[in-house]
Amino acid sequence: MPTPLEQFFHLAEQSLGKQSVLRSLPERFPYERDANFMLATLPACIVLPQTTQQVQWIVKTCNQLGLSYTARGAGTGLSGGSLAVSEAGVIISFAKLNQLLEINPEAGCAKVQAGLVNAKLNLALAEHGLFYAPDPSSQSACTFGGNWAENAGGIHCAKYGVTTDHTLSLCWVTPQAEIVWTNAHQTPFAPNGLNLRQLLVGSEGTLGLLCEAWVNVLPKPTHVAVALMAFSSLESASQAVSAIIQAGINPAALELIDALTVQCVNKAFGVGLPTSAQAVLLAEVDAFQASELAYLLQALQSAVEPFVPLSVETATSPERIAQLWKARKGAVASYGNISPAFYVMDPVIPRSKLAETLTEINAIANRYNLVIANVFHAGDGNLHPHLMFDPTDFEQIDRVKQASHEIMHLCVKVGGTLSGEHGIGLEKQGYLSDELSPASIAMMRAIQQAVAPEGLCNANKILPLKGFCSEGGHSQGHHHPTGGRPLSPSGLASADF
Ligand SMILES: Cc1cc2nc3c(=O)[nH]c(=O)nc-3n(C[C@H](O)[C@H](O)[C@H](O)COP(=O)(O)OP(=O)(O)OC[C@H]3O[C@@H](n4cnc5c(N)ncnc54)[C@H](O)[C@@H]3O)c2cc1C
Repeated sequence: MPTPLEQFFHLAEQSLGKQSVLRSLPERFPYERDANFMLATLPACIVLPQTTQQVQWIVKTCNQLGLSYTARGAGTGLSGGSLAVSEAGVIISFAKLNQLLEINPEAGCAKVQAGLVNAKLNLALAEHGLFYAPDPSSQSACTFGGNWAENAGGIHCAKYGVTTDHTLSLCWVTPQAEIVWTNAHQTPFAPNGLNLRQLLVGSEGTLGLLCEAWVNVLPKPTHVAVALMAFSSLESASQAVSAIIQAGINPAALELIDALTVQCVNKAFGVGLPTSAQAVLLAEVDAFQASELAYLLQALQSAVEPFVPLSVETATSPERIAQLWKARKGAVASYGNISPAFYVMDPVIPRSKLAETLTEINAIANRYNLVIANVFHAGDGNLHPHLMFDPTDFEQIDRVKQASHEIMHLCVKVGGTLSGEHGIGLEKQGYLSDELSPASIAMMRAIQQAVAPEGLCNANKILPLKGFCSEGGHSQGHHHPTGGRPLSPSGLASADF
């Protein structure tokens, strides 16, 4: 009698075609990890559907055979969300469901498939004078499916909001293999009834498979400038961030880059960021009129003056602005200049706590004798401490784990959340009970069990495994933006449900 997996291979090759079922070791190997170095699970096979109906067929067949399955976009996730549930798990890759289906400039929306790469939408929108706001630094690779699942943020989310704020309606293959539109609307109005759309965005692939959506697109501001401001300390740069927001400037982007990152970025991109500074702020302001832009730049200058910037450069040419953002988005890659690997975290803290929390994070890294670099969405309070390590040095990896453990506790203690954009996945599920009450976690578990009672849909992610306690634990696996809005909690968005 063939095993359930053997039956699945046979049926999938018949139904999807042999070229859409990857079974050999060399074909499976690239799907063993996402961008988090610490986690790995080799999947049993990868299937590549080309239509929503094929996704539906795969879910139905996995249910019949009792096989667990996990959606995968580009695998740029940083919390292990797209890893197979076990070595008998099936990966459903959305790489072939990757079309931009429609742009409707009049209604201000576009219809995209899950496998479309984020940046491709903006390339197509440019000729209409429009843009899609959520722009993760990984946007040239990551997909809409991964963005919906992780509620992705990005540099321009400080002003414009994150993925959930721009997703109008979603087409979803439920764990019971039904094809359901949350609301077939192309308007920004919330649907009537319970808000399934906001429940699904951020559900990390645990409540079914997201195949298509209408997303919100906006008129692109005609006047843009980026102020590059250098400070003598992380503290003064952090205080300047709060002052900018308090002045009511609402920058389109507000990013902080520390001294080590400045060195790496200059070496990699030759972008000439000021090397004498301990921290650099990149603040983008945008407007539809030159006078408004001039006013915003003046207000920016006045807001930061009390913190005595060492220098201020105002970039207005599209070339220089593109160069600065390319460097910021490539900052993570530039760490290759100083370390073979790093562990990146993404807690969100109240902006008012930026200076003291950064100081404490750096002290933790020093205590564990680790090199740390910081580049992050300061306007959102969404930190990205990068702890450098050598993957062959297990003692150092252990120190990275202990330091990250302390950093997570610290960020929750100052009133923050575990994750602004990378998700909980396998990586942080052991910490969720630090942030959320037992009643909150029980409600999320009840929602997961109600929506996916089969327990096959990316089932071991997000929520703590029963009986697990975070103390001393790092991961249970193998081995938001704040703006003017309240902090988004980690986990399922039960408050929106
Ligand atoms: C260099 C770098 C920079 C980054 N910068 C940012 C940043 O600025 N902002 C940010 O938010 N993130 C950032 N990330 C993290 C990552 O790029 C995002 O989480 C992104 O949204 C993941 O998209 P993906 O297509 O790679 O998804 P994957 O990694 O393949 O999957 C991520 C999760 O989404 C689920 N999923 C994927 N497709 C579907 C689907 N169709 N239906 C249901 N579930 C699905 C998977 O099961 C998994 O749980 C960065 C990562 C890297 C490596």
